[in-house]
Amino acid sequence: MFTKILIANRGEIAVRIMKTCARLGIRTVAVYSEIDARSLHVQCADEAFLLGPARASESYLVKEKLIDIAKSSGAQAVHPGYGFLSENADFARMVAEAGLVFIGPPAEAIVKLGDKIASKVLAEKAGVSVVPGRIGAVRDADEAIAIANEIGFPVLLKPAAGGGGKGMRIVFEPEQMAPALQSCIQETRKAFDDNQIFIERYIEKPRHIEMQIFADRYGNVVHIGERECSIQRRYQKIIEESPSVAVSEELRERMGQMACSLAREAGYTNAGTVEFIMDPDGAVYFLEMNTRLQVEHPVTEMVSGLDLVELQLKIAYGEPLPLQQADIKLTGHAIEARICAEDPGRNFLPATGMITRYAAPRGRNARVDSGVEAGSLVGVYYDSLLAKVICWGTNREEACNTLVDALNGYHIEGVTTNVDFVNRILTHPEFVAGNLTTGFISQHFEGDRARLPANDDCLRRMAAVAALLYDARQRSVRESLKPMAAHVGPGIKPKIWNEYRTKSGDDSFPVRVQGNTETRNWIVWVEDHPYQIVTPEFEFYRRRIRLSINGRKQRFRLQFDGSHLTRVAFCGILREFEIYSPKEWALTRFMPKPETKSKDNAMVCPMPGLVVDVLVKPGDRVYKGQELVIVESMKMESGVASPCDGEVLNVMVEKGNPVDTGDILITFVK
Ligand code: ADP
Repeated sequence: MFTKILIANRGEIAVRIMKTCARLGIRTVAVYSEIDARSLHVQCADEAFLLGPARASESYLVKEKLIDIAKSSGAQAVHPGYGFLSENADFARMVAEAGLVFIGPPAEAIVKLGDKIASKVLAEKAGVSVVPGRIGAVRDADEAIAIANEIGFPVLLKPAAGGGGKGMRIVFEPEQMAPALQSCIQETRKAFDDNQIFIERYIEKPRHIEMQIFADRYGNVVHIGERECSIQRRYQKIIEESPSVAVSEELRERMGQMACSLAREAGYTNAGTVEFIMDPDGAVYFLEMNTRLQVEHPVTEMVSGLDLVELQLKIAYGEPLPLQQADIKLTGHAIEARICAEDPGRNFLPATGMITRYAAPRGRNARVDSGVEAGSLVGVYYDSLLAKVICWGTNREEACNTLVDALNGYHIEGVTTNVDFVNRILTHPEFVAGNLTTGFISQHFEGDRARLPANDDCLRRMAAVAALLYDARQRSVRESLKPMAAHVGPGIKPKIWNEYRTKSGDDSFPVRVQGNTETRNWIVWVEDHPYQIVTPEFEFYRRRIRLSINGRKQRFRLQFDGSHLTRVAFCGILREFEIYSPKEWALTRFMPKPETKSKDNAMVCPMPGLVVDVLVKPGDRVYKGQELVIVESMKMESGVASPCDGEVLNVMVEKGNPVDTGDILITFVK
């Protein structure tokens, strides 16, 4: 086996690869950019070398530097992780030419499969069903319309060089074709420096299902079951699971064979993923093959008991696959949630900053692959994935409940994340029922809010916990005053119960808390629902608490603000509860409402990032909603739109400037 390898990546995947290396006694060499100098992957490695400035094009993507470091550090192989250079055939070739081993497929296979048109040709040859469409680049809109008429609208325009869903456009009718094709080409040129676009039928309400395969140098190919990755936002996966409720034993076998024969046809070795799309009737069609380890590989590891990075290392070293298809047994169910630095409440804008507190969930059947810890800096330069939480159960329901509970206890402060948003998906009744499609989020969510009213039982549990902790704090204050009270006046008689009113938005509940801090057994009535709660020995200002409610252990995240405000996060619901005594509650209707001020003669930057373009100059007339400045953050470009109609007075930024949330970009005269 290799004795030392270089990991040409960062974040959670670099850390994850290092874990397997440490277990196998392989030394690891990390590489990092200037802003990553103190990051977790650098600390986890045996050695670490600086690549260059923060921008990936000057650090993680500089092939020559990576190879130089690998050679001079005595590494025998390079693991590219995912993203960055993982699917770059030139890099794979250069690594091999430098006498090192690329832990991935041969460069030729990456080339063949990296182009979506070429890979569709290959798939057809291997007997794999492909999405109906024209296998070849389109010349112009007229030809595109003719093809679309043949295969039937709606159709999808796709860049051959695609990735990350970039450039794709759905076209529902002929009139939309020309503008859609033009913008698809524009985006493709920019993102991939290519202009080949092809057309396939747009499958409505599909599921995304992919097969994990492994191939060695000796012609052995196996598959390790499927992953369903239908829960996506803007073509980016958020939740993945294995197995899929939509895949029968027979279909698994058939998809597995298709995936393996495509790998054989392509002369593939190492880990690969063959992606399929499934229509509502259960027919599956090949989409593309990803020639690397996938972000979502841990769900496969949890149901198969295999370490996919270990298999990658063995195959790259030249060993034969240590198992045959018949040895692969899949047990139970695993689900993964991707935790990203983004603000779901503000249209999922990227979030940055320093993680000031960090407490990852622990527990049986819960795994956290994280690239961050307290003190980590989350910048604008790389993608927003911070960590993944993966949970296993004997069945889907158990895996899902374990994951929800893990996320209830995942506390990250300093940087806004999507923890509660993903939990909202996992607790949505349609998700629980397994009714998944790639349109799940747009169908069931409005922005970050589920279209359903919040679950009443969840809300009452949250109100019960908020009131209980408030009550316990009040009791402890009274306890501490007791000795003093004995001197200055009549003693405070302990009451058997205390009554409160909790208010969260439009929901307000009467709550009665009964019990005491010594036995830690409580009955909390919310309206006329009793909850029997057993608390641990708690401090009253904890940020996470695990307690038993009606016999079930549940976690809550809490934040106290002032004396009677408590923020509670539970099962994807995030609420602020105001807690009043009955007397205070009676007075609240006389309190004035706070006023909100607007700042609409200025355009404020909604997120941190780098200005990549300024589209106006002083004196220009603009209208409300017009994009005036383009800001790039975490590999995504977003236009910042004018808040008003008016004339540009001043442009406060220029191309290349770093900007932060709240910075004024442009001012107007109205
Ligand atoms: P990329 O390489 O850019 O990620 P993929 O071909 O893997 O592109 O597709 C990404 C996602 O786009 C899929 O998971 C699916 O949600 C959607 N998609 C792709 N092709 C189709 C299609 N023909 N019909 C409907 N949805 C599609």
